[in-house]
Amino acid sequence: MKKPSMPGPSAQGATTQVRPRPGFPVQLAAPVQGAPARKTTIATPSAAKPAVAARPLPTTPGVGMDSRAVRAAMIRKLQAQGVSHPAVLAAMGLVERHRFVDTALVNQAYEDTSLPIGLGQTISKPNVVARMMELLCEGRTEKLGRVLEIGTGCGYQAAVLSQVSREVYSIERLRGLHEKARANVRGLRLTNLHLLFGDGMLGFAQGAPYAAIIAAAGGEAIPQAWIDQLAVGGRLVAPAVTGAGQQHLVVIDKTAHGVKKTVLEPVLFVPLKSGVA
Ligand code: SAH
Repeated sequence: MKKPSMPGPSAQGATTQVRPRPGFPVQLAAPVQGAPARKTTIATPSAAKPAVAARPLPTTPGVGMDSRAVRAAMIRKLQAQGVSHPAVLAAMGLVERHRFVDTALVNQAYEDTSLPIGLGQTISKPNVVARMMELLCEGRTEKLGRVLEIGTGCGYQAAVLSQVSREVYSIERLRGLHEKARANVRGLRLTNLHLLFGDGMLGFAQGAPYAAIIAAAGGEAIPQAWIDQLAVGGRLVAPAVTGAGQQHLVVIDKTAHGVKKTVLEPVLFVPLKSGVA
């Protein structure tokens, strides 16, 4: 059983309890009241396998575009916008974003725009994905340990995360999108990415503690379960409504001495909802 690597100097000397990894299939903790009890399914039941090393991902033939060149242009644009973390840029250069959007939107896949992914949800802009990933990877040169993502959506950010982390658990509450994400990552051989169907507001206690937690949907507050499931030395990045009633990007650092909250720029993410549908 592998101990998750706890990144960052603040993790040193911290006493982090490492729980056994979940057996598969697993079920999320108690479902939200009123919500139908559903099993959590894991798309890639291979938690025992080692994290993938950086290597080229299988590409999609016949999409009618030289996606490598377009992706390189996207990376240059991200750099011009201030994104500089080498691992984040490399991961975004590797994952084919057009694989995750509907055929009709393929030509817009590398533009700096959010795009509809069905069921009223959207895939975040590349620079928002990069910004959040940079916040998670800030000051670290090694891969993140175990990471929890709330809001799998089409699976794009989860795939990018899988390139900079040893292990990723990503939860989606809409079954249609969970299935779509499974189909999107199928064939990419991301053995360290586990897609879960369930209510991410509860986190995923079986995989805790997490070196990093990232949410792609924003609520009134950061659920306490996420903070509880964050490792000492870990970082959480999520949109949340703050004092002035506006959604902001919030960073929570958990240290041996407590929790430090930093409110960053205003953002516009889809709402965090409880229960599954
Ligand atoms: N990172 C995603 C973005 C998806 S949009 C991507 O790359 O495509 C945010 C997603 O969060 C939506 O799919 C929405 O259904 C999901 N979501 C909202 N509340 C949730 C919750 N409580 N648990 C899990 N997913 C949730």
